Amino acid sequence: MDSLLNRIIEKNKCLTNKGKVASYIPALERVNPNYLGACIADMNGNLYTAGDYNRKFTLQSISKTVSLMLAIMDNGTEEVFSKVGMEPTGDAFNSIIRLETISPSKPLNPMINAGAIAVDSMIKGKNSEEKFNRLLKLFRKICSNEYLNINEEVYLSEKQTGNRNRALAYFMKDVGIISGDVEDILDIYFKQCSIEVDCIDIARIGLFLANNGVILDTGERVVEEKIAKTIKTFMVTCGMYNASGEFAINVGVPAKSGVGGGIMAAVPLRMGVGVFSPALDDKGNSLAGYGVLKDLSRELDLSFF
Ligand code: GLN
Repeated sequence: MDSLLNRIIEKNKCLTNKGKVASYIPALERVNPNYLGACIADMNGNLYTAGDYNRKFTLQSISKTVSLMLAIMDNGTEEVFSKVGMEPTGDAFNSIIRLETISPSKPLNPMINAGAIAVDSMIKGKNSEEKFNRLLKLFRKICSNEYLNINEEVYLSEKQTGNRNRALAYFMKDVGIISGDVEDILDIYFKQCSIEVDCIDIARIGLFLANNGVILDTGERVVEEKIAKTIKTFMVTCGMYNASGEFAINVGVPAKSGVGGGIMAAVPLRMGVGVFSPALDDKGNSLAGYGVLKDLSRELDLSFF
C-alpha cells in the first residue's frame, strides 16, 4: 500500500501547478501550492502515508461534517432539519442567491456556508466560547489528537474579511433561521474553519465515519450509527460542493473538501483517507487531491456504486 500511495502522489504532482491557492482569505494565500500529501487509515488499524502528509493546513469546510454531527447530537435530526435543508445545490459554496428565492427560506444543505452557519447556531453551550470548545473537544477525540487547535492567523484573517459569510448570517437572522447573536455564531464558524490539521488527522475523521461513529482504536461509540450515516450521505450529495455529482462518478466515495486544500474521504467499513494539496480548481476543490482520490478509487476499487 505504501508504494501504491507514493506512486499515485508522484503521478499527480504535476497537477499542483494547474490550480490556484485560495486567496479570498488572505492568510491562506501564503502557502506553497506544490504540496501534495496523503494518508490512509484502514479498518485494521494501519496507517499509510506519502508525500507532504505531515504539512499543516486548516480544515475549512471539512469541519462542517463534525459541526453538523454535534448539532444533531444536541438537538435531534428533526430540529436541525427544520432550519437547514437536505438538498444539493448547483451554486457555489458561499452563494447567497437561494436564501431569498426558496420558500420556506432556509439554506439548501449543511455543507454550504449558509447551512453550516445555521448549524452552528444550534450547538449548545452557555456562550460562544463554550460552544466552540465543545466542538474542538469532539474533533480532538475523533482525531485522537489532543493538540488540535486553531491557527490564530487564519482565524483572524477569516474574521476580518468574512463579509460574505456575515451577509449570509445577517440575512438568516432577519428571516428567523438563526436566533442569537450573529457575531457570536460567526465566531464559532470562523474558528472551526481555522482548526489546523494534517492528513493523518483528517484520515482519522474519515475512518471514524467509515466505522459508523465508533473510534476504531478505543471502540468508543461517539454518535449513533444513523447520524454517522446521515453525515456520509451529505458528503456524497454535497461534500464536493457543485462538483459532487461528477466526483461521485469519478471517485464514488463520501468525501468533504475545504478551501485549505484538504479532502477527507470515508470509505464505508474500509478506510478513511486524507489528502492535501492547496491549489484548487474553480469550484474550490483541491485539484491534485481530487486526482489522488480518483487514482486510489480505481486502483483499490473503492467506488460503492
Ligand atoms: N472558511 C471558508 C469560507 O467560509 C470555508 C469555505 C470552504 O472551505 N469551502 O469561505
